[in-house]
Amino acid sequence: MATVFLVTLYEYSPLFYITVVFICFLVTSGLVLGWFGLGVPVILRNSEETESSIRVLKKQMRQVKNPFGLEIPHASAASVTKGVTLAPDCLEDCILTCYWGCSVQKLHEALQKHVYCFRIKTPQALEDALYSEYLYRQQYFIKKNDKEEKCCQLPEDAQVVDFGPVPRSRYPLIALLTLADEEDREIYDIISMVAVIHVPDESYRLSCRILYQYLLLAQGQYHDLKQLFMSANSTAPSLSDTSPGEASTDRSLLEKVGLAEDESELHEESSKDCVVCQNGTVNWVLLPCRHTCLCDGCIKYFQQCPMCRQFVQESFPLCSKKEQDEDESTRVLQDVLPGRVF
Ligand SMILES: [Zn+2]
Ligand SMILES: [Zn+2]
Repeated sequence: MATVFLVTLYEYSPLFYITVVFICFLVTSGLVLGWFGLGVPVILRNSEETESSIRVLKKQMRQVKNPFGLEIPHASAASVTKGVTLAPDCLEDCILTCYWGCSVQKLHEALQKHVYCFRIKTPQALEDALYSEYLYRQQYFIKKNDKEEKCCQLPEDAQVVDFGPVPRSRYPLIALLTLADEEDREIYDIISMVAVIHVPDESYRLSCRILYQYLLLAQGQYHDLKQLFMSANSTAPSLSDTSPGEASTDRSLLEKVGLAEDESELHEESSKDCVVCQNGTVNWVLLPCRHTCLCDGCIKYFQQCPMCRQFVQESFPLCSKKEQDEDESTRVLQDVLPGRVF
């Protein structure tokens, strides 16, 4: 009996060991897959795959033309009593309407009305939404491409020298730019721009500056125009993008001001070195930190911003010719405002 058993074991032992090893392999594989999920563990991925996973983060952009531009050329000289000089720079005939001492609450209600009720495309529409919650109003006609400076000043008899201690219920100055011609309003996606301007007075001496710029779209959204932080020297042209307004969360706009020549000029000017390789042209904007510090070659290696270490949730290129060639259906919006500081 024992002899028969030993002989059988001897005959089948290679098969027995192979079976045992195979079962062990299956159990180990099961444990490894269970631990990491069905995906491939990060350490086993090659760099090509890492690149593709980052590319998913690319923000879908849309190109829009912004007919409005506004600057404060002599910000240091501005005050509530001496007035503010505004330099509009518009691609079409526009109307500049300045509201002194506009109610903060009413302005934000007006922006909501633009989204949900009626579009603010004329000064009258904004006034209807503000319910006259401002102290004084001035209006100027701005001719196309005319960069003439306009001096906005409160009249002496308005008797306003101060907007009181912070926090305030009124913005010192709101500048509204709207298109003068009815036809132009059909052409542009951006139908008006609201700039919230701080003007220093006795109780709050912070120098004059644009606090917010809202671009109002014909479709009823509005976008807050924001500055990009370029990694290169401060003489670089200021680049701006808009973060999505409440009405559209999936898209961000970058606006384009000026003509094609301006753009090419800007690209020459902005051929700044990437902070990582010190060689490539800075092209990628990282969100949410808005640092613009990486070139096309280096962007794929970063999931955190190399300047502030913030995790990159999305990114988009400033110059995206390649992308448009790759995918015509996804229009990549990219744009820049030459020489504007917000
Ligand atoms: Zn680089
Ligand atoms: Zn950053």
